[in-house]
Amino acid sequence: QQQLVLNERPNGLPNADTFAFKEINVENPGHEQLLLKTLYISVDPYMRGRMADGPSYIEPFQIGEPLSGGVVAQVVTSKSEQFQQGDIVTGMLNFQEYHVVEANQVRKVNTFGLRPSVALGPLGMPGLTAYFGMMHIGEPKQGETVVISGAAGAVGQVAGQLAKRAGAHVIGIVGSKEKANYITKTLGYDHAIEYKHGDVPRQLKEACPNGIDIYFENVGGEISDAVWPLLNTFARVPVCGAISSYNLEAGEYDIGIRVQTYLIKARAKMQGFLVGDYADHFKEAYEELGEAIASGELKYEETIREGFESIPDAFIGLFTGENIGKQLVKVAEQ
Ligand code: NDP
Repeated sequence: QQQLVLNERPNGLPNADTFAFKEINVENPGHEQLLLKTLYISVDPYMRGRMADGPSYIEPFQIGEPLSGGVVAQVVTSKSEQFQQGDIVTGMLNFQEYHVVEANQVRKVNTFGLRPSVALGPLGMPGLTAYFGMMHIGEPKQGETVVISGAAGAVGQVAGQLAKRAGAHVIGIVGSKEKANYITKTLGYDHAIEYKHGDVPRQLKEACPNGIDIYFENVGGEISDAVWPLLNTFARVPVCGAISSYNLEAGEYDIGIRVQTYLIKARAKMQGFLVGDYADHFKEAYEELGEAIASGELKYEETIREGFESIPDAFIGLFTGENIGKQLVKVAEQ
C-alpha cells in the first residue's frame, strides 16, 4: 500500500522533489480499531506551512514521515460497535490508501445523499472556516459591501454565498474568467474582479462606490493592498489566510505590513482566526450548512484529480489556481 511522505522541505513553490511515495504494510485492526479504505484526500493551502520547520499553531511535517490532512474513507472492517462495514467516515489521517485507526480518530459523515467528498469541502473544514469567518467575525448586514479574495476557492465559494444570504452586496476577486463566471452566474455574487487582468485598485474602486464594509481575506499581498484604502468606518476584516505569501523564498519581503495605517483611519476591525477556535459551535454550523446544501440553496464546486499518485500535483495546483471550489484527490471508488 502507498503512503505519501515529505521528502524535503521546499524553498518557494513545492515541486516533485518535495514528495516521495513509500510502500507500507497495513496490519489487521485490533479492539476498538477500524480498517479504512481512503476514498478522497483533501489538499489544503495550510499544508504548505507544515512543510516548513518553524513554530506555528500546528506542528511541522517531518522529513521521511507521512503527510496528513483531511481524508474521507470507507470502513472495510470494524472492531468497534460505533461503526459498521461500509460506513463513510472522515478525519485527519495520514495520506495513504488504507489505514488502521482508533475508532475515535474519525467521525461518521452525513453527506445528505451527496458525494462523500462534500465532507472535505462545504460540509467540512473549509465550509466551517467560511461560516465562522463570515458570520462570527464579518457579521454581514443588509446592504453592506462585502469583498472576498480567493472567491472561487473552497472557503471563498461558501463565504460569498453566506454574505449574499445576509443581504449584502458581494464582490469576489478571482484569478480567471472561468472563476469569474462561476461566482457570478452560479453562486450569485454581484460582481467579479479578475486580478490577473489589469488594474485591481481601479476595478475595485469602480465595483465598490460605497466603500467596503467587510473584507474576507484569503490571499494577502498586492490584491489586499487595493482593499485597504476603501475600508469604511468600522469595517471588519476576517483574516482567514494569505496564500500569496506561503511560497515566498527565504529572505523575500512580506508586504503585508502596510495595512495598519488604513485600519486606524477607518477604525476597522481586522481579526485573524483559526477555524478550530469555534469548535464549540461546529454542530450548529454543520446543521445550517447541511440544510442549505441539501436544499440546493448553497452551491459548491469541486476540482477532483484521480489517483493517489496525483496528490503532489493537486497540492501544487492550489498555488497556480487550477481549482474551482475544493481541490481534492479521488483515491478509490466507494
Ligand atoms: P482555495 O480553494 O481557495 O485554493 C487556493 C486558491 O488561491 C487558488 O485556487 C488560487 O485561486 C488562489 N491563489 C493561489 N495563489 C495565489 C496568489 N499568489 N495570489 C492570489 N491568489 C492565489 O483554498 P482554500 O479555500 O482551502 O483556502 C483559502 C485561504 O483560506 C487560504 O489562504 C488558506 O490558508 C485559508 N484557510 C484558513 C483557515 C483558518 O482556519 N484560518 C482554514 C482554511 C483555509 P485564483 O485562481 O483565484 O488565484
